[in-house]
Amino acid sequence: MINLDKIIEKAFEEQSLNQAEIKYLLSLTNSRKQEKLFSATSQLRHKYFNNKIFAYGFVYFSTYCRNNCRFCYYRYNNAKSPRYRKDLKEILQVCRALKNSGVHLLDLTMGEDPFYYQQQNLSNLLEMVSAVKEEINLPIMAFFGLWPEEMLKDLYQTGADWYACYQETHNRKLYRRLRINQNYYSRLSLKQKAQQTGFLIEDGILLGVGENLTDRARSILTMESLKVDQGRVMSFIPQEGTPLEKNKTPKRNEELLMIAALRLALKNVLIPASLDVDGIKGLKDRLQAGANVVTSIIPPTSGLKGVSNSRLDIEEGNRTIAGVKNVLESTDLELASVSDYVEWITARREMRNDSTRE
Ligand code: SF4
Repeated sequence: MINLDKIIEKAFEEQSLNQAEIKYLLSLTNSRKQEKLFSATSQLRHKYFNNKIFAYGFVYFSTYCRNNCRFCYYRYNNAKSPRYRKDLKEILQVCRALKNSGVHLLDLTMGEDPFYYQQQNLSNLLEMVSAVKEEINLPIMAFFGLWPEEMLKDLYQTGADWYACYQETHNRKLYRRLRINQNYYSRLSLKQKAQQTGFLIEDGILLGVGENLTDRARSILTMESLKVDQGRVMSFIPQEGTPLEKNKTPKRNEELLMIAALRLALKNVLIPASLDVDGIKGLKDRLQAGANVVTSIIPPTSGLKGVSNSRLDIEEGNRTIAGVKNVLESTDLELASVSDYVEWITARREMRNDSTRE
């Protein structure tokens, strides 16, 4: 018989959860049980991270994309989405501002911009990452879509620490409907190859795009089998000009339960609380559910966009370290230092190297 106490006990004993147990967590409706779950996920986070929270600066430097994902505001066919491509000078300026504000990592993100992918300009991206690493000297996450596997080593040599690549769903049929003409296994294999190259890796799930509870549980189990270092969940937000613009956003409680289930299943990995869905007002709930990284911090005057909420809270200056600190003040959590973060990624890499040697 599945029950919450047993699942929590298993997680604290570092045992894997099975699909039925994860589905049980995701379908909890009783508020007392949910409170118990969130208290357990906070304790588990504390076991691995004490009270430290990490924060990532988001540098969405190109909003062009050759793909047509049905859920995405920046899909190729959407004439309504704002398009820009920042040059190196502008990127460095934003990165400097983010570093000065106190972020721990720079998340350099673009869609599969045809300028880079179809005009053989990928080496420009290598130069850009090298320049950012050299001048700003912070950990870097690269998020460039389906980067060629044969160029992973070149990217790693620039000093990038992470490669992020989201499946968004791990139901292959649904994936084909959502990510039109994109191969499920290519994205999966890219993450595995990136990991073998030495990168830390992140996968992501989008909620409310046609998946059911079994699919959600499967996503968590796939992330576990991939041994991701960061696992993110985000609620779908309907985007103007896209085929899913009339779909509803899921109830936020579903995202909180996913964060909690990710924490119990994946244990010591990083789990984001994205500011991109509900802005700063949604941060505390996500942290209370067990998240430990604040993502999508964007400087107010940068002219950069978010992904699912392209403008939310940006110009108001709320998606900043100062905004995050305000929220943390009402919790027992605190912002880590950059050296705490570097220590974590170094230890994680060593752990990974040891397990590959075994
Ligand atoms: S989700 Fe990514 S790959 Fe798909 S259209 Fe949007 S930016 Fe392009």
